[in-house]
Amino acid sequence: MIRFGPAGNAKSFYEAGHKSSLEVPEYLASAGLNAYEYQCGRGVNVKREFCRSLGEKAQEHGIFLSIHAPYFINLGTPDPAVMESSLRHIAKSLSAARDMGAARIVVHPGSVGKGSREEAIARAERLLAQVAADLLPAFSGISLCLETMGKINQLGTLEEIIRLCRVDKAFIPAVDFGHLHARGIGAIKGRDDYEEILQRIDAGLGGEIVQNLHVHFSTIEYSKGGEVRHRTFAETEYGPDFDPLAQIIARDGLMPVIISESVGFQTEDALAMKEMVQHYL
Ligand SMILES: [Zn+2]
Repeated sequence: MIRFGPAGNAKSFYEAGHKSSLEVPEYLASAGLNAYEYQCGRGVNVKREFCRSLGEKAQEHGIFLSIHAPYFINLGTPDPAVMESSLRHIAKSLSAARDMGAARIVVHPGSVGKGSREEAIARAERLLAQVAADLLPAFSGISLCLETMGKINQLGTLEEIIRLCRVDKAFIPAVDFGHLHARGIGAIKGRDDYEEILQRIDAGLGGEIVQNLHVHFSTIEYSKGGEVRHRTFAETEYGPDFDPLAQIIARDGLMPVIISESVGFQTEDALAMKEMVQHYL
């Protein structure tokens, strides 16, 4: 099943009078969506009781849950205190995911820092090997999605993400096409560019990963440093265009989870993407 849903809560959710994220699963299901990425970017500050209730409601309404882990995680850091806190944020995200019944957590790899990219990536590989050895055995069935990032000084080119995912099979990519577009200074111009991205993932990680991809999508504004900010489909001067990707998803029978990150209009743009894919099915 292809899944579509928002990253966090759109403006329209609150405008409709809703307050609690516990109301989200029913709200999304009635809108025709079936995924929800719960945001813990500023820390995992959720009670176990809340996680269980959200999980029950998601199951009742057929919503696939994922969690966005804290932005403070920095896998490539040389600082032992930041390594320690990154491991703690990952552990808390995994624990919240287990309580919710969420199958995926999304993690930003962090910044390049003072040394070379290669040094930072090598440190990230070592920290992820530690995550796989020390944390993951208690959280079987939960995948850790490593996100492609939009700013050039962040770790998270497609090649870097593929390399980090090869550390353990529990690591899979979260392919943010807007971010790849921004860090490539407008790199995604059409279907060939999407095809190439998917072929590189296939070559590095295998066809099953491509088949069940975790996708973040929004249009995006960029400058010479890469990402400036996420935009919405209504702001038509920004790319990339989702339509060629919709064609590929339909043609190849891919089963991605597609999360809209259009600021304030995540629900509306998730529905727009669903319609585009359905148009080609
Ligand atoms: Zn993210």
